Amino acid sequence: MRFGFDNPLPDSVDADAVVVGAGPGGAAVSRILTGGGLRVVMLEEGPPRSRFRPSFAHTAKYHMQEGASMLVQGSVPFPVMAGRGVGGGSLVNSAICFRTPENVLESWAESLDDDRYLAQNLAPIYDEIEARIGVAPVSEATAGENNMVIARGAQKLGLEGGLVRRNAPGCIGCGICNYGCPVGGKGSVDQNLILDAEDAGLRLQADCRAEALLVDGRRAVGVVGRLHHPDTKAPGAVVRVRAKLVVLAAGAIGTPRLLWQDGIARDLGPVGEQLLLHPGSGILGVCDHEVHMWKGVTQGAYVWDPQLPEALPHTITAPPEALVIQSGRVGLEAKQVMREVNHLCGLGMMVSDRGVGSVRASRSGRAKLRYEWVPEDVDVLKQGLVLSARVLLAGGAREVFVTAFGAGRHRSAEGVAAELDDLPLHAFQLYSAHPMSTCPMGLDPETSVLNPAGRAHRMDGLYIADAGVFPSSLGVNPQLTTMALATLIGRGILQERG
Ligand SMILES: Cc1cc2nc3c(=O)[nH]c(=O)nc-3n(C[C@H](O)[C@H](O)[C@H](O)COP(=O)(O)OP(=O)(O)OC[C@H]3O[C@@H](n4cnc5c(N)ncnc54)[C@H](O)[C@@H]3O)c2cc1C
Ligand code: SF4
Repeated sequence: MRFGFDNPLPDSVDADAVVVGAGPGGAAVSRILTGGGLRVVMLEEGPPRSRFRPSFAHTAKYHMQEGASMLVQGSVPFPVMAGRGVGGGSLVNSAICFRTPENVLESWAESLDDDRYLAQNLAPIYDEIEARIGVAPVSEATAGENNMVIARGAQKLGLEGGLVRRNAPGCIGCGICNYGCPVGGKGSVDQNLILDAEDAGLRLQADCRAEALLVDGRRAVGVVGRLHHPDTKAPGAVVRVRAKLVVLAAGAIGTPRLLWQDGIARDLGPVGEQLLLHPGSGILGVCDHEVHMWKGVTQGAYVWDPQLPEALPHTITAPPEALVIQSGRVGLEAKQVMREVNHLCGLGMMVSDRGVGSVRASRSGRAKLRYEWVPEDVDVLKQGLVLSARVLLAGGAREVFVTAFGAGRHRSAEGVAAELDDLPLHAFQLYSAHPMSTCPMGLDPETSVLNPAGRAHRMDGLYIADAGVFPSSLGVNPQLTTMALATLIGRGILQERG
């Protein structure tokens, strides 16, 4: 059952488990817990259903955490996006689905001393989730020319890559995934995992922001949330959920933000101390033929080069009105971009990062984010943009330009490389949509918040099951890994209860 601001749960509720956050992590863990017969209540800050409208302002207000205004401070400021609502990030993401790379899982299994994290042991969980959320390769019929330029470029260069796998079984290739899906074609978790959990008895209170944990001695025993009007954000009644199990899945920013706001973060170890972001920037290509980069699957192609394993270039797109801003051009150069807008194609370059940031909360409950780049990551960013230039040029672009202030146009990847050598980090248009690892699993309570089962080292009854639990940077888009680990954590909880 689903509850909202106008039809809330009673102000005091008992359950076996309370889950905070209805994104991929919260959805996956709730599905397992309800399937195991537990009475589960979920609290979600955002609205109960997707309020799709093809407008950035509207999406920012209803479906992006903190109104899409989260900014990291540190080496150089840049925005970080995270989704909001029943479905969390999966409502507004591009539906790209990668399994966790095997080498990453090997290092996790070793550092956690737990074979459940090996690829062969996680494979059945991936199979099950992928089948349920409808993961399949992008078809050439819906891909659109922007993605096909990249797929052709990767093929010509003999690189791994091409069209990606996505959870979008009903996709018609309208190209606006980051606003939500106008036709319900995306397999966001509100369309599948949440429905399974509701069928098994989940009570989901939306429009309700968790504000504090209920704690008895060293044990978490519930969560206090407050309703907020979905349109005005005016505060409403309090909902108090008492439960033996508390599972936080408010996302890699939302979970540490809640724990710091509540004041118990310090008691739990290094909460919010290892913010990783997969930061990135972009490069645009200009083709002689028309591309219409906003037509076709939003982000449907990728490239991977074993010589540069920490780099993952994949499609970027934007509607025509946003392209000029994204291009980083002003004045006459912006006018030129407008003239060429039908001919542009693009790659975003994502770094599997080693730089480290942190999450804290301000008094008003907003996230305070810091992030420091390390020189190795800046090198990967630049080399990855050169690789991206090669791919776009091989795929059909006549010339390319990096989305950085002062960057020029080039007809060769060597030209891009020479220019990037001298370009400072603050010239790049940087962004992140993949916060992770802020409450990592590990064996040592000094350097990790959770044990390998996702349970807090220093508080009984408290689990975390979102993208914050990754022990290290992932290197691929995180939603599938988040669902897989949350499923594993949910199963572990059921086993521990016998
Ligand atoms: C624009 C965009 C594009 C992306 N594209 C892809 C992609 O193509 N493929 C991919 O794999 N990944 C993609 N990602 C990343 C992916 O969506 C996230 O990694 C994933 O959603 C993380 O899941 P989560 O459950 O950890 O957190 P979230 O999805 O962030 O869910 C957390 C939920 O908790 C809620 N919440 C937060 N605080 C509170 C609180 N105090 N009380 C109650 N509720 C709270 C939030 O509203 C949110 O709904 C993208 C992300 C964005 C923003
Ligand atoms: S491209 Fe359009 S139809 Fe396809 S999943 Fe994204 S929003 Fe939905």
